[in-house]
Amino acid sequence: MTSDVAKPARGHSVPGGVPVLEARNLTAGYGEVPVLHGISLRVGAGQIVALLGANGAGKTTLLFAIAGRLPLLSGQVIADGRVTVAPLYRRARDGLGLVTDDRSIFRGLTALDNLRVGRVQASDALELFPELKPRLGVVAGLLSGGEQQMLTLARALARRPKVLLIDELSLGLAPQIVQRLLGRLSEAATQSGTAVLLVEQHIRKALEVADYGYILSRGRIAIEGDAMNLRGRMSEIESSYLSSGSS
Ligand code: ATP
Repeated sequence: MTSDVAKPARGHSVPGGVPVLEARNLTAGYGEVPVLHGISLRVGAGQIVALLGANGAGKTTLLFAIAGRLPLLSGQVIADGRVTVAPLYRRARDGLGLVTDDRSIFRGLTALDNLRVGRVQASDALELFPELKPRLGVVAGLLSGGEQQMLTLARALARRPKVLLIDELSLGLAPQIVQRLLGRLSEAATQSGTAVLLVEQHIRKALEVADYGYILSRGRIAIEGDAMNLRGRMSEIESSYLSSGSS
């Protein structure tokens, strides 16, 4: 597959044998009703791991459970080799970034003030996305969807998180913008060693930048493998989408 962001599969071996982020046999849901069943996954430093699956398969629920925003019913989340039960704000303090699918910007503040509120230097954000420079004084709600996502991603990456969980970066955006965002994410993961767990609706685009992928179906991992391997199994992946959905 040709792409200006595709990177060769580096496999899923984790340097030193210890993943930055791991879920072991995780079960979680809402109230007592499980949505996720026995999920195990690993993300290493500098890796992008794609989390794919049909609507309702449980991707957002899994990100929230891993982030500490949703309690586990059973299983473990392991950060830097240690089991964690800390709430989201403590995991964030320890280097976890969470980008939700609602473009978490303050729409009434300028782009620059959004960076300030996030304690991010404008120069760091502009290093990531120089095209934001003439837009810093614009109220974020008036930025284009793509610019809003650049702002969101710049703010998250400029904090140099150890782990970044991203939900649907590309929702409703033009293909070129999606390419730009994912390309930058890939460079940043490689350069800063950030471990990225990326929920994405664009299966092909996600697998172009990812090292490894998990496909969820009805709250279970149905398929997993190196991204290069998964790129050759598109019909199998698409079939799993057709038979998936809510549990
Ligand atoms: P999408 O791609 O549409 O965002 P998803 O794969 O992220 O879907 P989730 O949003 O995690 O899926 O939803 C998984 C299941 O959990 C669905 O059956 C959904 O209805 C249910 N669910 C999600 N949020 C809640 C909630 N707050 N309370 C109860 N059930 C919920």
